[in-house]
Amino acid sequence: MAQYDYDLFTIGAGSGGVRASRHAARLGARVAAAEERYLGGTCVNAGCIPKKLFSYAAHYGEDIADAAGYGWHGTRQSFDWRALVANKDREIARLNGVYAKLLADAGVTLLRGRATLIDAHTVEIDGRRISARYVLVATGGWPARQSIPGAEFAISSNEAFHLSQLPRRVLVVGGGYIAVEFASIFNGLGVDSTIVYRGERLLREFDADLGAFLAGEMQKKGVHIRFHSIIERIVRAADGRALRATLADGAALDADCVMYATGRAPNTRGLGLEDAGVNLAANGAVVVDAEFRSSVPSVYAVGDVIDRVLLTPVALAEGMVVAENLFGSGGRSIDYEGIPTAIFSNPNVGTVGLSETKARERGGEIDVYRTSFVPLRHQLTGSGERTLMKLVVERRSDRVVGVHVVGPDAGEIIQGFAVALKCGASKRQFDATIGIHPTIAEELVTMRDVVS
Ligand code: FAD
Ligand code: NDP
Repeated sequence: MAQYDYDLFTIGAGSGGVRASRHAARLGARVAAAEERYLGGTCVNAGCIPKKLFSYAAHYGEDIADAAGYGWHGTRQSFDWRALVANKDREIARLNGVYAKLLADAGVTLLRGRATLIDAHTVEIDGRRISARYVLVATGGWPARQSIPGAEFAISSNEAFHLSQLPRRVLVVGGGYIAVEFASIFNGLGVDSTIVYRGERLLREFDADLGAFLAGEMQKKGVHIRFHSIIERIVRAADGRALRATLADGAALDADCVMYATGRAPNTRGLGLEDAGVNLAANGAVVVDAEFRSSVPSVYAVGDVIDRVLLTPVALAEGMVVAENLFGSGGRSIDYEGIPTAIFSNPNVGTVGLSETKARERGGEIDVYRTSFVPLRHQLTGSGERTLMKLVVERRSDRVVGVHVVGPDAGEIIQGFAVALKCGASKRQFDATIGIHPTIAEELVTMRDVVS
């Protein structure tokens, strides 16, 4: 390997790139990683972490209101957006430092700057050419932009984390993860929030009950949702501050902020990949095989840039596979079935396995168990928030193939059930499991009546 400067050169020190680099170094490889923007990538700087912190902030407002039902009166409610942003930034700076230390401790050389691929074994950063036996592209993604008139007045989630002041009214465009999470955050912080969604059901790619139930709960909390709605243009009002969005049906919506959450595009533009012979899909994603190797055998790619499953734990797992296969015992791959996920809307959504529709499409008979109820906590708050629990069971094998929850801490609940599904747990085994009382999760082991 000595004819190369490094055994592995990673472009992008986000979730996937850092994990692959550290693990490769631990396995004895000489590793360098380039980062042009921020250590830890999207998740740490403009994704999971700041989003979850904002989500906690949004919940506090509701918790304070709910506390009245428990005898707490007169709790002062005033929210300081700048304090939240500053505290969030301080936590991110701490995490940036943690990432720098993790890389340094692993012996990975960190190069700050934009790297591009020159050929199968050469990258360039700040005019310096560096050779590597393998190159890993882990450059993530970037918010997809719409090309309507006035799109320049709209923001994406990137800017939402740094608004100088909290808007009074916001329009959030989209019906996926980021749209429902941010509409919940803004609403929880007291912003008049409207989701503008082109379809008829939020979270379209998940079990149909989840999006429908979530929409109802969000509306109860005050979020306005306009289905079948597309913004055609955005103009700035004469006062130079407010925005007016005109919809395809002619309706006009006024807001102080319009945020697009309409998907993310792989970050491959200007990277030199195509010139080096790396095949890209129509949307710019790096095309890779099961081992994450591109059409150039020495060039690999993981994470959002391959546009498979855009989640941090998936990028981490893919990075591990690459490091193990190149420098370890080999033979690793990823099982993309049964990846659990949570949407940190208010209330949360947690889901693993097959939706009812997907399970039916696979053929075979299925049994569906479903319950919805007001959790004990909300019996005293009077908020009326309901929780949904749903199991999808393959009748022939009795295997539970889908678990779906809308309710408090749904993500925390689903993580454990994801293990059960990975182990192939049957409905009989769910039934034989003693519940924990009083929790909402106990419902998942006490549902007995097939509803469809
Ligand atoms: P990234 O983390 O994006 O890292 C790519 C890195 O490459 C970046 O640091 C970038 O600056 C760098 N880079 C790009 N080009 C170059 C170049 N040419 N040279 C040098 N460096 C370069 N996932 C979850 O699992 N849970 C969540 O709760 C969650 N919340 C999210 C909330 C939001 C608002 C968003 C946008 C995403 C969220 N995600 C969440 C998704 C998650 O952030 C991504 O799936 C994950 O960060 C992907 O990791 P990655 O390594 O592929 O890319
Ligand atoms: P999603 O794919 O989740 O949702 C995109 C939404 O935008 C969909 O509702 C889609 O509608 C809509 N849309 C797409 N194109 C247009 C358009 N041209 N005009 C109007 N609407 C449009 O993407 P997000 O941007 O919300 O998030 C990106 C990814 O980041 C997610 O897929 C997820 O993997 C990851 N993420 C994970 C989180 C978590 O783990 N909690 C949190 C945030 C992000 P339609 O449904 O009709 O296609």
